[in-house]
Amino acid sequence: MKDILTIAIDGPAGAGKSTIAKRLAKEYKIVYVDTGAMYRAVALYMLEHHINLDTENAVVDALNLVHIRIVYKDEIQHIYLNEEDVTQKIRQQSVGEGASKVSAYLPVRKKMVMMQQEMAKETSMVMDGRDIGTHVLTDAKVKIFLSADVIVRAKRRYNELIDKGESADLHAIEEEIRERDYRDMNRDHAPLVQAKDAHLLDTSNMNIDDVVDAIKKIVEMR
Ligand code: C5P
Repeated sequence: MKDILTIAIDGPAGAGKSTIAKRLAKEYKIVYVDTGAMYRAVALYMLEHHINLDTENAVVDALNLVHIRIVYKDEIQHIYLNEEDVTQKIRQQSVGEGASKVSAYLPVRKKMVMMQQEMAKETSMVMDGRDIGTHVLTDAKVKIFLSADVIVRAKRRYNELIDKGESADLHAIEEEIRERDYRDMNRDHAPLVQAKDAHLLDTSNMNIDDVVDAIKKIVEMR
């Protein structure tokens, strides 16, 4: 039987999940699935259709009209919302905030989790999100919980935006991260929490190579 490697990475916004997950996917030649992008695509649909994100019924009613597809082009995940490639659009800060609202609704979570579990069937992958180790891939071979001090996470986001030539306000980013953390950790369904069998890595004082090396050691030990 094929030896399948599944790595689940969870953690709060800005902990470095996607950067680390992409590096691991490359090193192990496996697929990277960014589940946050799926919740972002749902939020984008609602925002573009002027649906109030704070009204669960309205969001759930519109959910039937949301068709999400993930396609890999040159090993990069592209996300399609109703056949439009929204990979770039979903990166806006308003969409991230919206994702944190719509992801609190159970029907939204059920739809996304079903898709994620389907994708992970018999495929080696590294998947990141908030509930991967606790709900989506409970049997993952390796579970990692990445965390970092909120100030460090805000600074990383700030630097990313500045590097891209965008304007950024460090204080506003920190506030947005705190709010998002609070919502993600305190929602009723699949809140962000470290799985009992996950390895905790606080990346506040680690660079990307250190984190990747630490996870590779954990993978090799499994
Ligand atoms: O990871 P990213 O910042 O793109 O995720 C956006 C939002 O989507 C998160 O703040 C969280 O509320 C939600 N999310 C989730 N479960 C996941 C992935 C993301 O609830 N597995």
